[in-house]
Amino acid sequence: MEYFSTRGGDKVSAAVAIQEGLAPDGGLYVPERFPAYPIEGIGEKSYVEIAAGIFALYLRQFSPEQIAEAVAGAYLPHFPEDVAPCVSVGDMHILELWHGPTAAFKDMALQALPRLMKLAGACCGNDKELVVLTATSGDTGKAALEGFKDVPGVKIIVFYPKDGVSATQELQMRTTGGQNTYVIGVEGNFDDCQSGVKALFADAELNVLLSMNDKQFTSANSINWGRLLPQIVYYYYGYRQLYRAGRIELGDPIDIAVPTGNFGNILAAWYAKKMGLPVHRLLCASNENDVLTKVLETGVYNSCRPLLKTTSPSMDILVSSNFERFLFDISGNDATLVNKWFRELQETGQFSLEPHILSAVQKAMSGGKADSAQAAVTIKRVYEQYGYLLDPHTAVGYTVAEEYLQAHSRQYPLLLASTANPYKFSQAVLSALDRPIDQVAETDMPQLLEDYTHVPIPESLRQIAFLPIRHNRFCAKNEMRDTVKHILDLA
Ligand SMILES: *Cc1c(COP(=O)(O)O)cnc(C)c1O
Repeated sequence: MEYFSTRGGDKVSAAVAIQEGLAPDGGLYVPERFPAYPIEGIGEKSYVEIAAGIFALYLRQFSPEQIAEAVAGAYLPHFPEDVAPCVSVGDMHILELWHGPTAAFKDMALQALPRLMKLAGACCGNDKELVVLTATSGDTGKAALEGFKDVPGVKIIVFYPKDGVSATQELQMRTTGGQNTYVIGVEGNFDDCQSGVKALFADAELNVLLSMNDKQFTSANSINWGRLLPQIVYYYYGYRQLYRAGRIELGDPIDIAVPTGNFGNILAAWYAKKMGLPVHRLLCASNENDVLTKVLETGVYNSCRPLLKTTSPSMDILVSSNFERFLFDISGNDATLVNKWFRELQETGQFSLEPHILSAVQKAMSGGKADSAQAAVTIKRVYEQYGYLLDPHTAVGYTVAEEYLQAHSRQYPLLLASTANPYKFSQAVLSALDRPIDQVAETDMPQLLEDYTHVPIPESLRQIAFLPIRHNRFCAKNEMRDTVKHILDLA
């Protein structure tokens, strides 16, 4: 199985795609085809077995034993036995993807990615030091830091928007241990961080300098194929759970709703469907930054608008990188069209889909939006009705999914991807529950929320209050390059 770039460059192996992250032509690597993974017998398979089966289809360069070891190392020590539990709340089947070490769904991929990179390095005979450059809107950063912490031959540098993440997220990152971890608060928003990181990847002079020093950039963002692949697995696993709970017969179609930011999570659901998972419809849920809702409705992708701060910061994104992979697929792998769209996006901040592309997009996926106020109402209602606590991101998905279920008379069972534990966003959750918090320090809020709801704080989050701050770097958005050079000791 080889991989090509959405911008039309040469094919590469899986190992190269995973090591490079972004293709040299600025495109994203995609597999040349999507092999079938049948659902027969899925009820008897464990998470790790499903993961090993799916990984093997895409990573033929690695032996089954290597894959089995990587998968077991990723999921057995750091997750409960039921890696991603499915909880039914009313008509909604909530797939909890946040039982890993950092309490967000990013762990599902970022515990696996370092292991895949290690295999890829061995396979290419590449002994350069890997420098993982990451832009984060909050959750990727910590999950990547935990995944790559103290991995030999790797340094990890994380840029986050200084005033764009929750207090818990910031504490999680700034208390990270490890001798190879660097965390920098940028004076700007997530798009500034992401475009800054993209510019560093594309910086020819810097890359030569790195190479002369036996180093190489790579990405832990969902532009890396090694991040997307592990995410396909849990949609199969969610289906298995619905089947085992007697909610569906094997082969029955389901709908899947995903609170979306960079479009990685929902793209993985689309790929699962292409591989044979019986999915009727995908629902892409956005917050106030509803660029994706608009493009799914009108065919116009317009990023020329202010980025709004919401209670779901991991979805505060105007340029959703993985949408490019989706469009590449929908257009029948038309790199010329993809180049045209993304050149226009770069030059003018927007592009329009041709009518036949738009209708194919709309056949594949629906979009919906819920703002922070609506998400808050949902958090309160679901808590009062079911005693179940949603985080603000999942609440956006829940709101959009509920509207969809009502409009479609609950035709198919709906699986909702739950992307974070509510304690990562205690302030927003407490406000949604109408708790008075004016006088409360943000760092005391998780305890307050636990006292009120008796839903336990995850252990990893409870601990951060007692850890020393280890990272104190900040920079302006035009200083990211110098910061990286300084950290890597490049002249
Ligand atoms: C990253 C993240 C999202 C968005 O996922 P994408 O794959 O970027 O679309 C949604 N919710 C939470 C909590 C996240 O951390």
